[in-house]
Amino acid sequence: MLWDPHYEPVIGLEVHAQLLTQSKAFCSCSTDFGAEPNSNVCPVCLGMPGVLPVLNKNHVEFVLRMGLATHCSVAPRSIFARKNYFYPDLPKGYQISQYEEPVCSNGSIEIEFGDGSKKTIGITRIHMEEDAGKSIHDQDASTLVDVNRCGVPLIEIVSEPDMRSPREAYLYMVKIRQLVTYLGICDGNMEEGSLRCDANVSVRKKGETRLGTKTEVKNMNSFRFVEKALEYEINRQIDLLEHGEKVVQETLLWDPDRSIAVPMRSKEEAHDYRYFPDPDLVPVFINEEWIMNVTSSLPEDPAVRRDRFVAEYRIPKYDAEILTEDKPLADFFEGVVGKLKVRNEESFKLASNWTMGDVLRVVNAEKIAISDFPVSTAHVAQMIDLITDGTISSKIAKEVFEEMLKTREAPGVVVERKGLVQVSDTGELERIVDEVLSDNGAQVESYLAGKTQVFGFLVGAAMKATKGKGNPKLVNELLRKKLEGRK
Ligand code: ADP
Ligand code: ZN
Ligand code: MG
Repeated sequence: MLWDPHYEPVIGLEVHAQLLTQSKAFCSCSTDFGAEPNSNVCPVCLGMPGVLPVLNKNHVEFVLRMGLATHCSVAPRSIFARKNYFYPDLPKGYQISQYEEPVCSNGSIEIEFGDGSKKTIGITRIHMEEDAGKSIHDQDASTLVDVNRCGVPLIEIVSEPDMRSPREAYLYMVKIRQLVTYLGICDGNMEEGSLRCDANVSVRKKGETRLGTKTEVKNMNSFRFVEKALEYEINRQIDLLEHGEKVVQETLLWDPDRSIAVPMRSKEEAHDYRYFPDPDLVPVFINEEWIMNVTSSLPEDPAVRRDRFVAEYRIPKYDAEILTEDKPLADFFEGVVGKLKVRNEESFKLASNWTMGDVLRVVNAEKIAISDFPVSTAHVAQMIDLITDGTISSKIAKEVFEEMLKTREAPGVVVERKGLVQVSDTGELERIVDEVLSDNGAQVESYLAGKTQVFGFLVGAAMKATKGKGNPKLVNELLRKKLEGRK
């Protein structure tokens, strides 16, 4: 047991996603990551006196995508608020956010457990805000400030306190990342901070309906850390209660090196942000037409797509799960399937195997985007057709594939040029099989004496003699027939 079973953890997450817009939220500065420090900056995102922010329409477009994909209600009118605090990487002295009238609210996300059971997690709100800059604490104890990130558009997704275990929080984060990447609004990279999670957690005795005092854990830059930090914090809180002590409402920082959460600030020192409506920005009005346009442009939900793959292509759920983890991969698979000439369960499974196997292997090894994959979906489909129609064996296909990676030629061209057409001529194969049998007398004897496992060795020898081009099914059949004939 991970914690005392008399207690029930309650978890709510606040997730920030950095949006993939070209320019910042309220000015035309670039959002380019990794640019020279303090180069993407202007009087607006620095908050110079007298400047006026102008909202980036894509910021609204992107928050709508997420809001509508998570079944939120969209406010026809929402406003921006100033969240005031002092920090060296926030030259304006406030962040533009939304407070009282967020753009999206009352949504939900469905998570799915390993056994296929599902649970719905409520989304309290999703609002727009801008990011702050970055403080870089360097070795000689000085702090450098990079304001490039000031004004980069974010959305904050606030969940209801609906999760009951670190596992659920983990699955929820995985689902959020899958959604934002499917929607093309965020790259989902937790290590680089494009997706950040603050976890709120409390515990209560099982059966209790009131919520306990919560703490908030920050600074978790991977899904595993979210899970580990929550486990740690749940046990710490239960321990306090078991010793008759109280949980203090505070913010903690997860220290991955020591695997503990260290206090950052307590409720008494908590920020009072003095939110008030930003007088420089007009309300955002969203009409039905805009909502309808975004709704109709939403991609298929990844879980729906996965179930469709199983139903439509009859591939195992395991395959469909991997293929739909990421939209470009799912698109690649469907691109291949859509171009297959021979369309049956076998060719669909081959398309799945090649996409999950060789394609993904190369993509991961070369660290390239699937959209930059050197072999087109058309060529992969043609190669699979060559396997299903018996022109090449799966083994030769590996060789063809390697060659296509190098030369980008069509599989038919590679097969032709390298003379890789499978030998299905029974006469020729029979000659080869006979030769193999006479060259391996000892193995044949032991086969006949009942050691049937040498059959594999003989198949291997025969395939080798065909330089891998023998039709493996025919080679097997011929060998079996000849050996049985000698009994
Ligand atoms: P705060 O005002 O401290 O930011 P909010 O009410 O805005 O708190 O909630 C922030 C997050 O904390 C939400 O995701 C919410 O679901 C979660 N939360 C609120 N109360 C609790 C609680 N008692 N235990 C666990 N999570 C909670
Ligand atoms: Zn700017
Ligand atoms: Mg809050």
